[in-house]
Amino acid sequence: MRWDAVVVGAGPAGSATALLLARSGARVLLLDRARFPRDKPCSEYLSPETTRVLERLGGGVLDAVAQASHARLTGMKVVAPSGRAMIGRFDRTGARFSFALPRTSFDMILRSAAETAGAVVQEGVKVHDLIYDRGAVGGVIAAETHRARVVVGADGLRSVVARRLGGVRTSSPRRVAFTAHVADVAGVTDVGEMHVGQTGYVGMGPIGGGVTTVALVVPVKTLKLRTGFFDALDRFPGLAGRFDRRRVVRGILATGPFAQWSRASVAPDGGALLVGDAADFFDPFTGQGIYSALRGAELAAAAVMEALTSGASLQAYARARRREFAGKWLLERLIALGVGWPALVERVVARLARRADLADLLVRASGNCIPARAVLAPGVLAGLLW
Ligand SMILES: Cc1cc2nc3c(=O)[nH]c(=O)nc-3n(C[C@H](O)[C@H](O)[C@H](O)COP(=O)(O)OP(=O)(O)OC[C@H]3O[C@@H](n4cnc5c(N)ncnc54)[C@H](O)[C@@H]3O)c2cc1C
Repeated sequence: MRWDAVVVGAGPAGSATALLLARSGARVLLLDRARFPRDKPCSEYLSPETTRVLERLGGGVLDAVAQASHARLTGMKVVAPSGRAMIGRFDRTGARFSFALPRTSFDMILRSAAETAGAVVQEGVKVHDLIYDRGAVGGVIAAETHRARVVVGADGLRSVVARRLGGVRTSSPRRVAFTAHVADVAGVTDVGEMHVGQTGYVGMGPIGGGVTTVALVVPVKTLKLRTGFFDALDRFPGLAGRFDRRRVVRGILATGPFAQWSRASVAPDGGALLVGDAADFFDPFTGQGIYSALRGAELAAAAVMEALTSGASLQAYARARRREFAGKWLLERLIALGVGWPALVERVVARLARRADLADLLVRASGNCIPARAVLAPGVLAGLLW
């Protein structure tokens, strides 16, 4: 059998793409090497704009998220190495919020919605190569060969589809992450927290049920965690003494290095495209990955349906991605580089602690509530420093 589309990876990018394609009438096979529910190292915050994408996905996805155990965040707090802090809100009334929930439940909701929409889902199937048909990608090789008119690579940070297509690049800063779930963390409120240290940073926030997700992100070159996870957390002034080490409810997951991207999101000779982390993954500081995966899925599904129904080139997808994400990529890169300079963070946080308007602007842009260009304007960038 030849599928209209084989989607590799049932994370947010793959499940959302499969759902949209199946609902449009395509015959879709969704493959994942894992068995669900599966976990994923993440800070588990869905930026506020993600809610709108979940609503557009339909299929009861947004209701299922709202009914799952979750937390609601109304803004972000950034703490500088000295302990000085700033808070930005998604809006000043508190009405705009972001969901935060465990990836085990979020990804399961999306994977099930794809199946309900008509995608055939196979778990425990690891794809290891592509096949070609008259020069273009024509399917994937797992335990068996699956032929398809289009292959969607949604297989995450170390995507085998991206590697087989060639052109995977890495860039600085190279960081790795350790994530854990801890219960009853002291001082947790309705804002996510980012604590920047002399080397690395910690992102954390509630995910419902009294549990906090904690991610320690450090440069690869300082990787020798001579002390343990909690000793490393205790060195941040805003975190010291807030954790009870006996209250770890899910052990530590490690991932990285990040800062990996593909030179092309569409196979040069057609037949395949990349979405989500498989296409590009920068640094998790701004927490845009899930939004980008879902928004990318919308763009990918539209381009694949055009290709299937009218033979259009998949290159339209590459252009749509550039239009949609160029500003975000730049903002994300600037922030990722900036957090590697403690003196710079100190200065910006001191400035934003006095300028609530700018703090809100930055948090709203990084939460996708407003376009990134609102922050990239020279006057605003200058305002962050002077
Ligand atoms: C420390 C950390 C914190 C983060 N915090 C946030 C946050 O708070 N908010 C946010 O929005 N983003 C965050 N992100 C980013 C976010 O986790 C990713 O951007 C998001 O998971 C991307 O989704 P995806 O579907 O592209 O990939 P994934 O979620 O990684 O899914 C890929 C899927 O592909 C499957 N797969 C892989 N290889 C194969 C293969 N060969 N064959 C078959 N299946 C395969 C995997 O099993 C997996 O299920 C964070 C990332 C990190 C590392």
